[in-house]
Amino acid sequence: MWRIKKIMTDKYTDEYDESADNKYDDTDSAYDIVDSADESEDDANNEDDATKDDKTKKTGGETSDNSDDDYEKYCYLCRRPESVAGKLIHMPGDINICPDCMQRSFDSFTSSGFGNMPGLGNMQFIDLTNMPFGNIDMSKFKAQNDIPKSQKVKKKAPKEKKKQEELSLKTIPAPHKIKAMLDEYVVGQEYAKKVISVAVYNHYKRVLTDTMDDIEIEKSNMLMVGPTGCGKTYIVKTIAKLLQVPLAITDATTLTEAGYIGDDVESVLSKLLAAADNDVEKAERGIVFIDEIDKIAKKQNSNSRDVSGESVQQGLLKLLEGADVEVPVGSGSKNAMVPMTTINTRNILFICGGAFPDLEDIIKRRISKQASMGFKAELKDKYDDEPNLLRQVTTEDLRDFGMIPEFLGRLPVVFTLDALDKDMYIKILKEPKNAILKQYKKLLALDEVDLRFDDSAYEAIASEAVKRKTGARALRAIIEKFMLDIMYQIPRDDTIGRVTITGDYIRGKGSPIIELRGTPALEEK
Ligand code: ADP
Repeated sequence: MWRIKKIMTDKYTDEYDESADNKYDDTDSAYDIVDSADESEDDANNEDDATKDDKTKKTGGETSDNSDDDYEKYCYLCRRPESVAGKLIHMPGDINICPDCMQRSFDSFTSSGFGNMPGLGNMQFIDLTNMPFGNIDMSKFKAQNDIPKSQKVKKKAPKEKKKQEELSLKTIPAPHKIKAMLDEYVVGQEYAKKVISVAVYNHYKRVLTDTMDDIEIEKSNMLMVGPTGCGKTYIVKTIAKLLQVPLAITDATTLTEAGYIGDDVESVLSKLLAAADNDVEKAERGIVFIDEIDKIAKKQNSNSRDVSGESVQQGLLKLLEGADVEVPVGSGSKNAMVPMTTINTRNILFICGGAFPDLEDIIKRRISKQASMGFKAELKDKYDDEPNLLRQVTTEDLRDFGMIPEFLGRLPVVFTLDALDKDMYIKILKEPKNAILKQYKKLLALDEVDLRFDDSAYEAIASEAVKRKTGARALRAIIEKFMLDIMYQIPRDDTIGRVTITGDYIRGKGSPIIELRGTPALEEK
């Protein structure tokens, strides 16, 4: 049965080659048979090589395990593929038309008076091949099956969407579990991790029970205070990933009062909506992180209108509190062309973060003022070397910094993050699940090279990072610099089996230790 089928296919395909131009119907059937041969491939495991060769010839050199369904369909008129033009309308004669072209064709019929023809409304099919479309001779276009496979684009495989488990009262992890999960990624910052775990747990408990009776649980928006690069954004990102809730991260410096150049405060909700795939209900349970919040402090001694400072704080008030807000969909700014939707912010968790650079001075001033009288009087510079003075922050200090009381009142959970020290940097290099050095190790392991760092290397990287004062971000910058040579040189020499990075190499005084493959020392370890 199989052999007969194959011979028939050959015959048809030969015919197709000779009469390629006009005999659409014949080619249809030719391809049908080729297709059916494709389908029966599974049964044909015992087919001999000669038949296999025939088959390759037939399909123009391609191996024929690609069925027509794997390829894009094209619009008969504009030639755009279905993935771009939208769902195609299939017409007799194996013609596919995209909705745009269909609409344009009808428009041109109507404008030429053709649409007024009596009885057109009852017409079921129009033979487009013989129809004059303006000046276009439709018979020149090829139907779907006439396009050789070499000119068709393969359809993209639909992305498998990970099944997201909906957050529910049963599935929401307890604070200690949230913290344990955070520990896998974030080094140190024990206090901050504890506070955020409890606050997030309470927030989602409040959202999920949704019983706002006499005892209304208040929203626990947060304010994180900590030096740059100490993990503020990283903690929030990790929490959102663990809980699988949408997260929008914005920079307060881009926000301005409505009507001025810059983004309106509502743009933070547009971002959240986009992060929730435009699903309003999902967005209403999301997290918004507003970074650099200290940059919208009230400008001191300013006579001009403070459009990017105090006014932004005022604008954010209603979002933080919980209100129905009109937001543009798919765009950061409102204009006549953008559709709008309403988002209720009652259950959105707002987390603000900032480095508050001069806050330490304010705290120092307050503490030393308290202790500057009587027997307990202390020297003014006593607190100069205190490493984590920020921990003693109070709402009063933040108000002195320039945050307005109404704004602070809506961020009931205030906590600080510690500046990272050398030991923490070393831990960040070694411990987190996706530590940057682990990433490099993995990359080189794919080239079968074992990348190692000795203790002096960790020390050297950490000391360099401390000097730069940009927090953990400095680590990446330092590593990228010295890894460049390694990543460039190693893959071109496949005798290298192991590379050990030393402290001297990082300080620019030596070179890494290279061990070749097959040497006894390498085999032993
Ligand atoms: P910021 O506090 O300025 O928001 P980020 O959270 O963006 O700083 O930190 C920058 C990067 O530094 C993060 O992407 C993360 O890789 C790393 N990082 C910072 N702090 C930590 C930490 N405590 N543990 C692990 N990685 C950290």
